[in-house]
Amino acid sequence: MATQLVVIGNGMAGARAVEEILARGGGDLFEITMIGEEPHGNYNRAMLGHVLSGQADDADIFLNALPWYRENNITLYSGVRVDRIDKFSRHVFAADGRVVPYDILIIATGSRPFLPHISGLYSPSGSVRQGVFTFGCLEDARKIIRFARQENHRRAVVMGDGLPGLEAARGLQARGLDVAMVHPASRATAVLGSARVTGMSLRDQPDLDCDMVIITAGSRPNVAPAVVSGLAVERGIVVDDHLRVLDEDDIYAVGECAQHRGEVYGTVAPLWEQAAVLADHVTGFDTSSQYLGSPVPEWAPGPLVACVTGIGVNPVR
Ligand SMILES: Cc1cc2nc3c(=O)[nH]c(=O)nc-3n(C[C@H](O)[C@H](O)[C@H](O)COP(=O)(O)OP(=O)(O)OC[C@H]3O[C@@H](n4cnc5c(N)ncnc54)[C@H](O)[C@@H]3O)c2cc1C
Repeated sequence: MATQLVVIGNGMAGARAVEEILARGGGDLFEITMIGEEPHGNYNRAMLGHVLSGQADDADIFLNALPWYRENNITLYSGVRVDRIDKFSRHVFAADGRVVPYDILIIATGSRPFLPHISGLYSPSGSVRQGVFTFGCLEDARKIIRFARQENHRRAVVMGDGLPGLEAARGLQARGLDVAMVHPASRATAVLGSARVTGMSLRDQPDLDCDMVIITAGSRPNVAPAVVSGLAVERGIVVDDHLRVLDEDDIYAVGECAQHRGEVYGTVAPLWEQAAVLADHVTGFDTSSQYLGSPVPEWAPGPLVACVTGIGVNPVR
């Protein structure tokens, strides 16, 4: 029986790792299974701002649409979340009851938007209230667009900075909304309004009126399945210079969920480099290959505010 290679997470790092593995002859070495929580193929997350602004359609941003998986003999379970891994029997357990055996496992679960501790974010049922959004995936972009299209929703507050914040602000502005950015996100103290969102209160500043709030206050590595499965996790899943998880022979991690030499990355370039090294080792193509880290881009407030004012968004400082 062929060696079973299983990838948890069908995002940019997981799919890129598989592309690199295939480029090194992995299609002949492995039976590949990918399990992803999102209900479709892999898309370019960095293009979500273009979807939000209307410059791109959903279909334009796919890097690996469903035929790609079939053409490469990859079994894809989409819309399926993995809950835990049994590293002793080498099985992956999914929320839908599916149990998938592996010989080699790659964890590429990315990160989740961080929701800060401010009041007014949640409905009484415990879910994020209507009018408050995160901006981390295609479904988030679709929800924001649906809400922003309603006639009475004219003002938005984007809470936080970084690429997703700037792209959310730009996208909503392109749809004709008045946008204010709150930077840093810790300036915000509460989302206001009871039946509907009416504004945001700020530390030492007058309240801002708005109909919707987009929270882009950073993200946190998505390590839940690794934690409950007893893998080495600090801020992210701890990997060595081969992207192998600390103390594990057959488990690798790549992308925003991985912590390498103390660093967790939040942009695409590092995960491209990681995926190539991982593929070198998994396939045996180049066992001397090493990942030694990537430069970390600076999101300094100075250039950020200049950039924000440059697009006409009103920064709250
Ligand atoms: C709005 C936005 C704009 C961005 N713009 C840029 C940019 O301009 N330039 C740039 O370099 N970077 C940008 N980034 C960052 C870039 O998109 C990320 O660095 C990259 O997507 C990380 O890839 P990843 O595979 O580690 O994580 P992701 O792409 O997030 O993929 C992780 C996948 O794993 C799935 N998953 C998570 N947990 C499970 C589970 N338990 N079981 C199954 N599946 C699971 C998730 O649903 C997701 O599909 C942007 C990000 C956002 C959100």
